[in-house]
Amino acid sequence: MRFYLKTFTVLTFVFSSVLFISCEKEEILDETSIGIEEDTEIVEVEYYGEKIYVEKKGNHYVMEGDILIDVDDNRKSSGKTGVLWPNGIVYYAISSNVSDSQKQIITKAMNHWKNKTVIKFEKRTNQQAYVNFVATGGCQSFIGRKGGMQELNVGGCINRELLIHELGHTVGLYHEHNKYNRDQYIRILWDNIRDNLFSRAQYKKNTTASGRDFTTGIDYESVMIYRAGVTDHAIDRTKPVMEKLDGTGWSYPPGTLTANDIRGVNLMYANSVPLASDISNHWAQYEINLLMRMGLVSGFSDGTFKPNNLLTRAEFAALIASIIKPTEEIRPDINFPDVPDTDYWAIEAISLAVKSGYMSGFPDGTFRPNEKVTRVQLFVALSSGLRLDGGRNSDLDFFSDRGDIPNWAIDNGRVADAYENKLISVYNLNNSITNKLRPNENATRADAAVTFHQALVFLNKVEDTSNRYLALPPL
Ligand SMILES: [Zn+2]
Repeated sequence: MRFYLKTFTVLTFVFSSVLFISCEKEEILDETSIGIEEDTEIVEVEYYGEKIYVEKKGNHYVMEGDILIDVDDNRKSSGKTGVLWPNGIVYYAISSNVSDSQKQIITKAMNHWKNKTVIKFEKRTNQQAYVNFVATGGCQSFIGRKGGMQELNVGGCINRELLIHELGHTVGLYHEHNKYNRDQYIRILWDNIRDNLFSRAQYKKNTTASGRDFTTGIDYESVMIYRAGVTDHAIDRTKPVMEKLDGTGWSYPPGTLTANDIRGVNLMYANSVPLASDISNHWAQYEINLLMRMGLVSGFSDGTFKPNNLLTRAEFAALIASIIKPTEEIRPDINFPDVPDTDYWAIEAISLAVKSGYMSGFPDGTFRPNEKVTRVQLFVALSSGLRLDGGRNSDLDFFSDRGDIPNWAIDNGRVADAYENKLISVYNLNNSITNKLRPNENATRADAAVTFHQALVFLNKVEDTSNRYLALPPL
């Protein structure tokens, strides 16, 4: 093994997993249920450029109690996002030595994932990359898709919850409590952690983000977090080994996927599982997919999204109502002569978009619901409604077509504010990135999806994922 550096023989630290089975509640997500066997060595290896201590059990290397790793390849860290299962489909096979009761647990855990997330499990036919459930002792999985056959040891996965956790690793998740930025949220109580490499390695912080993080903070009920107390890694088992910064602990995670787990995994797979048939490899795929996944926009009944279709003002008002959901009214409703006042599908959305300050009528008193929205109208509407500020008109020189921006949109500062707050995309349909704002072109549904996504970033409702087609303001 290329990265095999040191070996520590474990003589005194022998657990029997049988001891802990008597209390099933304690078993949930407790890494120590795996135990450490007499033939286990603790070795120092290099994993994604970092030296860590892991267990070596026969041919297996186990990190943090239950994560199988390869130590003889030289992969660069691609983190959570580099090892995903295409289309969210995990192919699997179950080895003949797996008992019927374990098969039931596997099925239950897979169904939980299938019912809650975009992940699907399908029996392997001839796929190269697949998970092989084997009855080997322990309860361990690789992180994400490895390529080829990858084992998932289920011998020690004694309940559905443990297997739900392992499948979390299989789809690409690391341990929540070891997140690179965990110190902002939790404290590891090292004084109560046994002074041996095995125990201390369970709580080693990731030194960098393990990929794009899809949820902020720490989810204390995540299926990927270990409980704060009652662990055999504790010197005093009655005291916790982790606590929140305010000194309180957290109790047993329920062992089922939380809203954050679901959101994180669905975001993680947003690009791998297109929700519409015509957005694969589209420049706005991520944003469209995300908004669809969040239930904020919908596609057409034929399964398409039609990202390059144009948007009418009535449709745009409907998007403001469904995506932003404005609650504050800053001005009275206006009766527009060209908006039917009964039974018109967009009447409420238009009223809300106007009252909340996102949209206005034209100087002649009309709303023109069927007129197409231009890009500058898109940016100005969201900039106004969100009350963005901080923009400088001088910065608009970034755009080579600044001269095309209507004066009204410069004079009120709204375009500059939109630029400053990263609401402006600059992609054009010739498949190239330009520094053109194209203010007077009609906005496509994709244009709208990206700008609305950025509005949600501003509102702290989604992560800032910085689409490379955004016009980024000067620092
Ligand atoms: Zn784990």
